[in-house]
Amino acid sequence: MNQIIADGGCMCGSVRYSVKGEVLWAGHCHCESCRRQTSSPMTSFFCVYEKNMMFVGDALQTYSPSKDVERGFCKNCGTLMYYMHASRAGEIDLYAVTLDNPENFKPESHYHWDEKLSWLHVNDGLPKENQEE
Ligand SMILES: [Zn+2]
Repeated sequence: MNQIIADGGCMCGSVRYSVKGEVLWAGHCHCESCRRQTSSPMTSFFCVYEKNMMFVGDALQTYSPSKDVERGFCKNCGTLMYYMHASRAGEIDLYAVTLDNPENFKPESHYHWDEKLSWLHVNDGLPKENQEE
């Protein structure tokens, strides 16, 4: 998944996006912040340059759980759309399962493995990292 040309969107279709270009990294995040916001034991991202993607629709809202983080979501249906961190200016992390064809997602690693819930069992052979990036 070094390059991507794809479309995606939220559950209700009010927020759509197109993305094209280099995938900087792709993998699963186990951090508590992602777990809480997704209400799931982990979530899956791919990271691209913000300039290589575009959102369409006026339903995109943002939420900042801390001063360095911005998360985007659809105000109509609540689907999470992106994560951005101030330390990685110009990059945007998109949720893999918002892709119209999420089967094309190729995870490379697990991030924040030290925060993984004990009852989630993973046996995919991917690297397990304790620090994002
Ligand atoms: Zn929506």
